[in-house]
Amino acid sequence: MEFKFPRTFGQNEARESLRQTLTQGRFPHALLVHGEPGLGQHALLLDLAQILACESKTERACGKCFPCKAFESASLESVHYLIPLVKKEKAKDSDDEESDLNSAQIEELSGLIKVWHEEPYAFGVEEKAKVHVAQTSELLGRLGYAGDRSKVRIVLIPYLEDLVPAAANKLLKTLEEPAANVYFLIASDNRAALLPTLLSRCLHLGLTPLSSAEFRETAATLSSRIGIPLSVRLLPFAEGSPGVYLDLLNNGGEDLLEESAKFLAAITASDWRVFADYTGQGSAVEDLEESTRLLHFLLRCIRLYQSLKAAHSNLSQALKNEGWDASLSNYLTPLEHIADLPAFATYLQTAFQAIKGYSKPQIALLGLFLEYDAKVHR
Ligand SMILES: [Zn+2]
Repeated sequence: MEFKFPRTFGQNEARESLRQTLTQGRFPHALLVHGEPGLGQHALLLDLAQILACESKTERACGKCFPCKAFESASLESVHYLIPLVKKEKAKDSDDEESDLNSAQIEELSGLIKVWHEEPYAFGVEEKAKVHVAQTSELLGRLGYAGDRSKVRIVLIPYLEDLVPAAANKLLKTLEEPAANVYFLIASDNRAALLPTLLSRCLHLGLTPLSSAEFRETAATLSSRIGIPLSVRLLPFAEGSPGVYLDLLNNGGEDLLEESAKFLAAITASDWRVFADYTGQGSAVEDLEESTRLLHFLLRCIRLYQSLKAAHSNLSQALKNEGWDASLSNYLTPLEHIADLPAFATYLQTAFQAIKGYSKPQIALLGLFLEYDAKVHR
């Protein structure tokens, strides 16, 4: 039997170990795929679901049998999706009766399933989205249904950390006594946040950043798939994660790069007036959502700078050695002026967290900058 993973880029080690468990007929009831966001967790879950559902005797997934066709159009009934939703349940009529998913939730769910299948590397959910109790109740109802027990049934859980506690408890009970032919294919970006009792019931499979050559090839493929030219400058900031690259490409990564350069130039000028000018000029820090994205990008800049400097003391040479775009040295050079980068990274995180409650975040950020500057230059 040949096993194929057409949606997943790289991850050869993970594929190999999965091939072995499949070949030896010891594929687990619950598999937890974990790693940094965007490494391919969600692509791999879909590949595995199709492999398990496929009825071919020679190669899986064949792409030709009925379950394969139905799965590819996201309409295979034996596959259940537990995806975090933003829409909430209506208030319950009574405490002991659990409400079903409402129509808004069903609509949200089918939209997310569609996005996941269309481009697994672009699939994601909003920060506040949760898997609600009604979703796990519905799942248990379906799994409990006698039906044809010899048929493979699959539960896809892309963000295990997003189950509300009551939903996690319900799931836990099912994982303790899994029904025959039921497979839980689970992913998590944040394994540290999970219940130990849930973790102990899964086989764990870690994904790793793609190698440089694999990553470049993948980035080129993904860029053409979404019809946006490859951005060579953004490549090193993704740290070998195709999903992160795609997110940067799709959501103004080039602008973030320019903005981060402005921010760093202003903050490393060690003159509060320069920084005040920056915060007052329609900069990203006027808007909370934009400033959060800026913060995350700045942290990426710092990590990239640190790894380049660890490889070679000369920034331009380090970029050249790695084969990254040489113009990036202009963007990263301001970091040369910061004596203690880890402390600076911590300051940025604290400052950007602190401005969340302010109606004028740029003024709060300026205050925090003065505080930081005073400490550094004392
Ligand atoms: Zn098939």
